[in-house]
Amino acid sequence: MTLPASPGPRAAELTVSADRVADLHLHTFFSDGTFSPEELARRAREKGLNIVALTDHDTLEGCGRMAYACGAEGLEFIPGAELTAECAGAEVHILGYWLDGTNEPLRVALEKFQNVRQDRIAEMVRRLNGAGVALTIEAVTNLAGCNSPGRPHVARALVAAGLADDFDAAFDRFLKKGRVAFVSKARMEVKHSVDLIHGAGGVAVLAHPGLYRNDGLIPQIAAAGLDGLECWHTKHTANQSTAYAALATKLNLVATGGSDCHGMAKDQPLVGSVRLPAVQVELLAARRPGARSVS
Ligand code: AMP
Ligand code: FE
Ligand code: FE
Ligand code: ZN
Repeated sequence: MTLPASPGPRAAELTVSADRVADLHLHTFFSDGTFSPEELARRAREKGLNIVALTDHDTLEGCGRMAYACGAEGLEFIPGAELTAECAGAEVHILGYWLDGTNEPLRVALEKFQNVRQDRIAEMVRRLNGAGVALTIEAVTNLAGCNSPGRPHVARALVAAGLADDFDAAFDRFLKKGRVAFVSKARMEVKHSVDLIHGAGGVAVLAHPGLYRNDGLIPQIAAAGLDGLECWHTKHTANQSTAYAALATKLNLVATGGSDCHGMAKDQPLVGSVRLPAVQVELLAARRPGARSVS
């Protein structure tokens, strides 16, 4: 099959008739998204999606509610997570799909990641206070209200306390790499995260390769046992997406895509802004450990 150059909004005509469409990268307030699972499922249905995956950072906690909400909206649901990993010293994100939340090694690893994230919030607040920024830890934890908090929660708390003008300014001034409150996260080697995902019955996809600005890492990450490459993403240009789709073919990876919706973006919910033909989801499902290809 020929893939459209971009399954994004501008290519909507190409995918409307191509039976069903998916968005495989979504966040809720169980990590740093702002939507509840119910609101996310409703908006996904309103955007005409048929298949969605929840991929909160380092947690599967939203998947139970999301599965139920998707059932009510008539959507097919894939339970997933976005794991924090590293390759050659760089942070990379590995999306896991069809994960079994009862798998013990995965459960233990996620709990460890969440503990480190919580300690990290405290360290960020300490550093802000040291720099004369009077944010309290309670202001962040009350706003976050989840076990897998991150920098976006600190950014929102800074804005709410009048200590930053807006979300992006909070990142620019305090939170991005090199700024006073930047603290790195716990991350596992890519091979470890891919093995954990496979051990929990899932498939592993490299998230938003365009954001790492180091395409040379991709073959190395693929060699860890990757199943797919997220070619279509909100922050990829059409040219990047086309190039990543070609690279996916070369590396025997399934080309996938998702919006990476964290809530509203410029007065629009991002969910559904990337529309992946369902055939790609079927190809990905065929990579599940134990899946039998039917000939
Ligand atoms: P964390 O996992 O705590 O390091 O936070 C990473 C999240 O923060 C990403 O998923 C993005 O949603 C967001 N983020 C990272 N960098 C920026 C930035 N420069 N401006 C706005 N949001 C960002
Ligand atoms: Fe995020
Ligand atoms: Fe990510
Ligand atoms: Zn994400």
